[in-house]
Amino acid sequence: MIIPKTPKLTDVQLEEVSLIAAEFGCRIQLIEGAAQSIFAIVGDERHELLINRIEGLDYIDRVDTIQSPHKLLDIRSELKNQKTVFGGIELGKDLLAIAGPCTIDPSNPNRFYETAEALKEAGAHALRGGVWKPRTNPYSYQGDNKALDILMEGARRTGLPVNTEVMDEENLELALDAGVDMLQIGTRNALNYSLLRKVGQAIAGKNTVVLLKRGRHIGPINEFISAAEYIVNFGNPNVMLCPRGTLPGLEGYRNHPDESITPLLKEKTWAPVVVDPSHSVGKSVYVEACSMAAVAYGTDGLCIEANIDPARGLGDDPKQAITPEAFRQLMEKCQAIWNLNSPPESSE
Ligand code: PEP
Ligand code: MN
Repeated sequence: MIIPKTPKLTDVQLEEVSLIAAEFGCRIQLIEGAAQSIFAIVGDERHELLINRIEGLDYIDRVDTIQSPHKLLDIRSELKNQKTVFGGIELGKDLLAIAGPCTIDPSNPNRFYETAEALKEAGAHALRGGVWKPRTNPYSYQGDNKALDILMEGARRTGLPVNTEVMDEENLELALDAGVDMLQIGTRNALNYSLLRKVGQAIAGKNTVVLLKRGRHIGPINEFISAAEYIVNFGNPNVMLCPRGTLPGLEGYRNHPDESITPLLKEKTWAPVVVDPSHSVGKSVYVEACSMAAVAYGTDGLCIEANIDPARGLGDDPKQAITPEAFRQLMEKCQAIWNLNSPPESSE
């Protein structure tokens, strides 16, 4: 990571540094954060001569090399002061709440609009809603482009930013063209590096945020962080890590709840953590306890499936969505736990 003496490199300076990096098989990537930008050396930056040559330039302060499998996302990285803002919330300062149905029903737009309004009223900062759906059974409903218009109309009516999952390049293009604010990469695609690359490249230079779910089969925590880093390495640092349960090891829960990995993630990376309690437990009655546990473990946010009429929703909603009123009560309890860790600043 190159730390120049001034906040930005000029085009001529960038060109000079890039040519040196290229001699060592590396390239320079500008990563533009809200608070600061950094110049990452992508590739093996540990050649002594490479470091010496760059540090020898009079406009360079130093080159930081971090021995880490995910150096951009490492807690020691220069990007650690990155401020990720979504739904009016600066991650880490206040608890972010994303809520909405698993799947938007294209035949009933009003149910989504009413759900969206009720969730906003109940305190949601952003909406979620599946347009394209990965399914456990390939013959189940897989989504419909029409739901994208409904999602964006929900955003317009409430003024809230929206999250939806993209599974391929076609979804990605449609979602970005429509103005989706947060792209979700689901558990089944968490290690689909080709998709991660396309997402990373498509959002470089934009404000778009990515919610990367933890693959339900991912063991090592470094693999999860490295997948997120791969997206960031194309230039947009707005990535959030989403534990959502791993393959079930016990009967009763749909997945094995993994909100407890939050402190481990926080020890290793500055990237915000947003827990999905709904897929973790898979049953609406357990969602509140899982959300409270996630906040106690130090999550920065929650992404919760909710519907005004869960029983008549599509996808996971009949099993695991909660009502807007249950969401409001849950958030009150979660906020109280959050305040134990970060008491609100006194107004005096
Ligand atoms: C979802 O959010 O509806 C979803 C399918 O998520 P996951 O990839 O975690 O199963
Ligand atoms: Mn779902």
